[in-house]
Amino acid sequence: MTDFNSLVYLDYNATTKVAEEVVDSMLPFFKRYWGNPSSAYAFGHATAVHIEKARRQCAEFIGAEPGQILFTSSGTESNNTAINAALRRHPHKRHVVMSAVEHSANTSYGQYLNQLGYEVTYIPVDPDGSMDLVQLAACIRSDTAIVSVMWANNETGVLFPVEDISALCRSCQVPFHTDAVQVAGKIPIDVRTMDVDYLSLSGHKFHAPKGIGILFIKNNLRFNRLIQGGGQEKGRRGGTENVPAIVGIGCAASLAMDRRPSEKGKVLRLRNKLELGIETSIPHVHVMGKHNERLDNTCNVLFERTEAEAVLLMLDRLGICASSGSACTTGSLNPSHVLRAMGYSPKLCMGSIRFSLGQDTTEEEIDFVLGHLPPIISRLRGEGTVTN
Ligand code: PLP
Repeated sequence: MTDFNSLVYLDYNATTKVAEEVVDSMLPFFKRYWGNPSSAYAFGHATAVHIEKARRQCAEFIGAEPGQILFTSSGTESNNTAINAALRRHPHKRHVVMSAVEHSANTSYGQYLNQLGYEVTYIPVDPDGSMDLVQLAACIRSDTAIVSVMWANNETGVLFPVEDISALCRSCQVPFHTDAVQVAGKIPIDVRTMDVDYLSLSGHKFHAPKGIGILFIKNNLRFNRLIQGGGQEKGRRGGTENVPAIVGIGCAASLAMDRRPSEKGKVLRLRNKLELGIETSIPHVHVMGKHNERLDNTCNVLFERTEAEAVLLMLDRLGICASSGSACTTGSLNPSHVLRAMGYSPKLCMGSIRFSLGQDTTEEEIDFVLGHLPPIISRLRGEGTVTN
């Protein structure tokens, strides 16, 4: 396998490295305590105890009660489960509201619901990524089963005012779900002050392994499960629990709470350095959501007259990992639906690159990117040559 030791990893919104402490917490559950938590004997039950410990850790992380935490396989499953639960609770309510910039974990589910005959309204955003709450209020109807709006956008980092949206939904007596997948470990989460009905998290975005997610459920009495099967997760999700991953996400939640505020300040400083460096050295660039409240770690830049995929290829050759919002469907590239919703033309959208920083990002890495990016863009625009 290729040695990827000298990577400049600037794609933390895509996934994060599993923390050493998390790996260590998981290993005993592969090697020694591998019993089935549902088994009646002590060897099985020993693992169940650790699932409950992880549930308490995750609850503390977001200000919830342990009983309000459901372990799922992913952020995607958590989102689908929340919307499904609301629809099943009121079968006569066949309308769902979400933002136009949700992750495909939500928009694809919306398309699926359309096929089943449900109606989905997508609330538009302005060129800076903001949503008009008056417009949102106007879309909520007597047959609206749930409003689902993400807390932080994965492509731009733009934050939606979830507390205001929650209050609005409460006043309309409609359940509110927020996809907080990009928020975990970046800003504090307290479900008590937010007053949400459902909240989704994904382990691999905050240094737990892939394939484990959390759904916060405010009121279990109103919950209908998505995954049928055994009585695991207190009857809320069928399927034998992924014990090592559950233990891992519990450990990652505790680590995220312990992280010092100074580490978070470092990420913002480096993100601002990267952004300013790009804006001052490369003409015709636009920073997405620049005037909005954003995650400290996310920098999405639209380069005019540039194909992002070509830039990413050249960055990849230098060991720099970043990403574009374009999605590959049936062999062709489609512009990001997020930037399209912000009003940018399909052509412009093809030039957008997302750099997302994390706790291990260093000043040297930012300098490295700033040293190589301007000549790459210049060359791709046909303005000069790059030597590397
Ligand atoms: N929601 C958001 C905002 C995301 O960024 C992602 C993943 O990128 C997901 C949901 C899906 O999470 P998972 O990969 O755990 O299914």
